[in-house]
Amino acid sequence: MKASQFFVSTLKEAPADAEIVSHKLMMRAGMIKRLGAGIYNYMPMGLRVIRKVEHIIRTEMNRAGAVELLMPVVQPAELWQETGRFDKMGPELLRVKDRHGRDFIIQPTSEEVITDIARQELRSYKQLPKNFYHIQTKFRDERRPRFGIMRGREFTMKDAYSFDRDKDAAGRSYDNMYAAYCRIFDRLGLQYRAVAADTGAIGGDRSHEFQVIAETGEDAIIYCPTSDYAANIELAEALLLIATRGAATQALTKTPTPGKATCADVAELLQLPLTQTVKSLVLATDELNEHGEVVKTQVWLLLVRGDHDLNEVKAGKLEGLKGGFRFATAAEIDAHFGCKPGYLGPIGLKQPVKVIADRTVANMADFVCGANEADFHFTGANWGRDLPEPDLVADIRNVVEGDPSPDGKGVLAIQRGIEVGHVFYLGTKYSAAMNATYLDENGKPQLMEMGCYGIGVTRILGAAIEQNHDERGIVWPDSIAPFTVVVCPIGMDRNEEVKAAATKLYEELLDLGIDVLLDDRGERPGAMFADWELVGVPHRVVISDRGLKEGQVEVQGRRDAAATKLALADVVAHLK
Ligand code: ATP
Ligand code: MG
Ligand code: MG
Ligand code: MG
Repeated sequence: MKASQFFVSTLKEAPADAEIVSHKLMMRAGMIKRLGAGIYNYMPMGLRVIRKVEHIIRTEMNRAGAVELLMPVVQPAELWQETGRFDKMGPELLRVKDRHGRDFIIQPTSEEVITDIARQELRSYKQLPKNFYHIQTKFRDERRPRFGIMRGREFTMKDAYSFDRDKDAAGRSYDNMYAAYCRIFDRLGLQYRAVAADTGAIGGDRSHEFQVIAETGEDAIIYCPTSDYAANIELAEALLLIATRGAATQALTKTPTPGKATCADVAELLQLPLTQTVKSLVLATDELNEHGEVVKTQVWLLLVRGDHDLNEVKAGKLEGLKGGFRFATAAEIDAHFGCKPGYLGPIGLKQPVKVIADRTVANMADFVCGANEADFHFTGANWGRDLPEPDLVADIRNVVEGDPSPDGKGVLAIQRGIEVGHVFYLGTKYSAAMNATYLDENGKPQLMEMGCYGIGVTRILGAAIEQNHDERGIVWPDSIAPFTVVVCPIGMDRNEEVKAAATKLYEELLDLGIDVLLDDRGERPGAMFADWELVGVPHRVVISDRGLKEGQVEVQGRRDAAATKLALADVVAHLK
């Protein structure tokens, strides 16, 4: 591909709504273009990456014996009524009507349709096991689409569905997919962890999420560094790491353990009942010098577990605690918890901490609280009088970093992650609802045992960038880079030798099947290099008049600190 023919569209600045680095860089590199909330155009540069991700997934799914088909995006409601999901699923399911007033849905996933196919097509035990998959557009009307294509409303998913004769066989299908997922994420060049996840009503231990490790991840995962134990936070019955740096919570606890306070500790301190929910407030204390100037500020996170609302936490009680508390400002909270501005989600809390005051409360009236996210705040809240009940973490349990691992092989640690894949044993949930049976050896109908296996194709782009970037831009793993090599001739438009050498090298690399781009736009070297560093092309070859006089070109890997000089004749071998 020649850059003059391709579509290159880079930006110096990211749009203001891009909060995290992957979203910013994808926008700046011209990979995606926003069409609406959670709805994006995949621009040519981004689509190349998507296609490479899909290729890896396809290859490994096929290798694992799964069979590709393609199910419709628009699906008749009848099938979804058979399983009850048409009514049970909340507003995330997009329902539409056709011209005759018939109900349809835009698929968020495809259990119903695949089970419908299976009950018609898979009639005998001899046809099992079978695993069908497709790579298809999904729509989920997410409450908070954000982070670009990481949590889109329209996105691409690979979803696979296995059909087996019994539980044991379904277990083998599950293990097979688990292994395929490991190969896929290895080939994608991602750092990930497979963590046990909740199986809900289905029960058993057969649900795993594949989580890409990243600070900006919306999920929290608990693992034991010295054993195989790993679970997502909900499953680990987890939580309640009060993300403290410094002694703040210590002063609030009775247990003098650094950095820890349980809900019970806080509740006891505040003399509040303990039940299901946890409420949190972030407070600050100012230490003043003799001139009344602030010399030191401490931020305190208070978690209260109880069925009371925060109205009960009277100012008097807080003052009784230590005196001089005020509500922490958003900036103080961000700094204290090491969060990026506007993204407060202390490690260990599945949801962002919810009670945040944006300004110091002098008169205890009309402050702002709520999620640390635009448009999610409550305004005009009055402390101790009619503080609105914030939407708080519903179910927080008590696992803390440093607690013993359930397998007894070490202590627990907590990380944040991005869910890029999910494997799930379904049992007969769908086959029973839709009467999907096969005939066994005795000619007796039996319900099929099912599993489902999803991968967020488009989310992977964001996850990969969160892990692989620097101050200049994206650093794609070779396996999914939009182009593997970029040839940058300097002064191509005015120097025939440079042009000839660059074109020859480009052709040779093309012949070898290397995904190479020739930058023939005639840009200045600085602008040209900045573009490809931003886009994240793993290898760059610079051909200049000066170099050619010595028979040399410069080759530089995207992660290399400096270029290496190579004889022109050796470049192809070097990049092969
Ligand atoms: P999440 O917890 O992030 O909402 P999920 O558990 O609802 O994801 P699944 O139903 O398990 O998602 O779907 C399989 C995969 O599809 C997920 O592991 C994720 O990689 C991807 N995915 C889910 N929702 C989105 C979305 N809104 N945007 C992009 N990818 C998504
Ligand atoms: Mg979801
Ligand atoms: Mg999930
Ligand atoms: Mg999931």
